[in-house]
Amino acid sequence: MNAGIQTVAYLFASVLFILSLGGLASQESAKRGNFFGMIGMAIAIIATVLGTSVAGHGFIALAIGIAALIGVAVAIKVEMTAMPQLVAMLHSFVGLAAVLVGFGSYLDPHTATLTGAAHSIHLIEIFIGIFIGAITLTGSIVAWGKLQGKIMSKPLRYFGRHTINIALLIGSIYLCVRFLNAQGTTGLPELLIMTGIACFIGIILVMAIGGADMPVVVSMLNSYSGWAAAAAGFMLSNDLLIVVGALVGSSGAILSYIMCKAMNRSFISVILGGFGESVSSSSAKEIEGEVLSINHNEVANLLEEANSVMIVPGYGMAVAKAQYPVYEMVKTLREKGKNVRFAIHPVAGRLPGHMNVLLAEANVPYDIVFEMDEVNGDIESVDLVLIIGANDIVNPAALDDEGSPIYGMPVIEAWRAKKVVVMKRSMAAGYAGIENPLFYKENTRMLYGDAKMSVDSLNVEL
Ligand code: NDP
Repeated sequence: MNAGIQTVAYLFASVLFILSLGGLASQESAKRGNFFGMIGMAIAIIATVLGTSVAGHGFIALAIGIAALIGVAVAIKVEMTAMPQLVAMLHSFVGLAAVLVGFGSYLDPHTATLTGAAHSIHLIEIFIGIFIGAITLTGSIVAWGKLQGKIMSKPLRYFGRHTINIALLIGSIYLCVRFLNAQGTTGLPELLIMTGIACFIGIILVMAIGGADMPVVVSMLNSYSGWAAAAAGFMLSNDLLIVVGALVGSSGAILSYIMCKAMNRSFISVILGGFGESVSSSSAKEIEGEVLSINHNEVANLLEEANSVMIVPGYGMAVAKAQYPVYEMVKTLREKGKNVRFAIHPVAGRLPGHMNVLLAEANVPYDIVFEMDEVNGDIESVDLVLIIGANDIVNPAALDDEGSPIYGMPVIEAWRAKKVVVMKRSMAAGYAGIENPLFYKENTRMLYGDAKMSVDSLNVEL
């Protein structure tokens, strides 16, 4: 394929990627967005592989074939609840690729033929690409470990960690200066030491973040992986990789910012692992009140009596795969003339949009699915709020307990409704590992059991 056709193909693929991102902005157009992304990626791969400077097509086809088989097998097997871990693991591959491309570029004999400013710029691209790539690599592995429960999810905070981070950064700048002044490939030791330092920064940066901040970390690593890809694009002089990397890098950064706003957290404080916060935050208030349980028959009666019902799904609904019977129940209630709405918290479940995906899977119409901000305003008028496997996202401590680790995070204010039923298996805590005073409120009743089994029983009763 000649260079002209390749450039046109790259341009076309870039437009498809932009359309893809635009499509992913809403549930209605998400499928179309994914489709654009797939076509764009296919064009990008074909145009790159058929480029004039690429040889060994047989090996490339074999590698793509094996990778496609692994990808399909993993995608079929992965549970929806394990998606964030998978995404984190995939980000680590992008980081590793940027590191390998960096070393490959440095050792490529072509690099030695560059002179003057072009040579210095290329060396800076290599250094920065490997630096970001190594942080993304180890940071993503730690994020995977935390989300998978292999590493403790509590943030690791110790005295002087910000000083250590700054010292490591200054050390890396010093190595960069030495690397730029090295002749030929004699800067390899500096590059290797910096890679070690960046790998270490990735580990301590993500180890210092935990609990309710984990969603932001996943999206932040998504952003890092984009910048690592863009850096690889510069090293390889591949325009498409630069464009795609910048799109992923900036959209990941914007998503992280939006999530921080949704959780009322400072973006800088989250990405620096709680910078500027006190280390201890466990002086939660004593909870008053009594926990009262309810049975399926009584909940069915409450549903029969209610005119307006709001359903708040959370991580437990995903674990139980209760979305299908939930929608069956919603259809029954709507046939009886009741106003039924879903209320979705921005960080419900374990990844952004988790609940929206599950509800779309069960064919729930979009017009009865509302964002948290749209429902909190008139929640007093709701007769019954049904909380299905949610916990942290309906915790009143986020609003009224300054000692709570989630203080300041906006939540769905379910307790302001006339009646609340919480469906979960026990009194166990949610992701943030804290007690929920909502369960002790006068207007709250607990319906214990697996969410799917409970909703199945309610469907029989109704
Ligand atoms: P939580 O993790 O707070 O609570 C989920 C509840 O579901 C648990 O208390 C559990 O209680 C219950 N549960 C588990 N399995 C079942 C089941 N089979 N049937 C019924 N109930 C079940 O979830 P939320 O959605 O309320 O909040 C999300 C949390 O995750 C937030 O803290 C958020 O910050 C964090 N997070 C979010 C991410 C995102 O991007 N959305 C990513 C990473 C973390 P029990 O064991 O008693 O049944």
